Amino acid sequence: MSNILKEDCKLKLDIISRAKKLGMNIVGFAPVERWEKYKETDAEYYPQNIWPGIKTVIVLGAQIYLPMLETTPSVVYSELYNTSNRILDEAAYKIANYLNTLGNQGFFFPRDCYGDISVLVKKPAAAFSQVLAGKYAGLGTIGYNHTLITKEFGPRVRLVSVLTDAVIPGDPVLEKDLCIKCEMCRKCCPTSSFKTTENFIADMNKKKCAAYHAKLKSAYCYPCGVCIKVCPIGADRKIYGYNARKYLNEKEALKKDKNDPEYAGWVHCREHGSKSLEK
Ligand code: SF4
Ligand code: SF4
Repeated sequence: MSNILKEDCKLKLDIISRAKKLGMNIVGFAPVERWEKYKETDAEYYPQNIWPGIKTVIVLGAQIYLPMLETTPSVVYSELYNTSNRILDEAAYKIANYLNTLGNQGFFFPRDCYGDISVLVKKPAAAFSQVLAGKYAGLGTIGYNHTLITKEFGPRVRLVSVLTDAVIPGDPVLEKDLCIKCEMCRKCCPTSSFKTTENFIADMNKKKCAAYHAKLKSAYCYPCGVCIKVCPIGADRKIYGYNARKYLNEKEALKKDKNDPEYAGWVHCREHGSKSLEK
């Protein structure tokens, strides 16, 4: 191994260790050439075209705890979402800062990056895709529901990207799809935003999804997250289990009896700290 390669690997291990200490659950490295190789988005969205000189995208992921997510739409999940955003941006800021101290460019693309949901209702696209970055960094594959599906947490992981001019060895892109196309996400989506086509990934009505999010935001129980809640994939299921019947029956069961004991905990969280969606 050449000395330059050894140094690159040392930097990679150093960044992984720092990211883990900052509370990140998963870390992956994507050389920017992968955007050109896969051509899955327009060239104006390639990181090297947004910031010329960038060589590597470091993707950091923080898990979403299933029991909190299951209460959605609720302020419990809303607070978790906000917390994950904070720790992601903080970790990305600190990793970028560390790269700067080494004399490298280092900065980050914040995990969501939109001013208000009303903007997304009109134009539901980000300047940079964290999901594609996650795929190119070997952290997972893109599922039917347009999210990054990971081995560790299925789609229950939030992502942020650090961009640097340091050349750091990439992680292998996963070849095999982790999504099993069970379509639980489509069946449980409250807005029926997914449509199955001949493609592996669903046709998604992003404007409809964003409009629902605007409603959730005004009721303080944003975001939705149902399509990541019901996905069976992820090692976190070994801890929390999987009850497809409970997910599939939720809407009907609560329509029949809003005090159905099976859903009492979720309903309890929804009835505190946020407004009712019905009003
Ligand atoms: S719920 Fe099923 S179809 Fe949807 S992303 Fe997960 S595995 Fe894929
Ligand atoms: S976030 Fe909610 S509304 Fe949007 S696609 Fe997923 S399940 Fe449907």
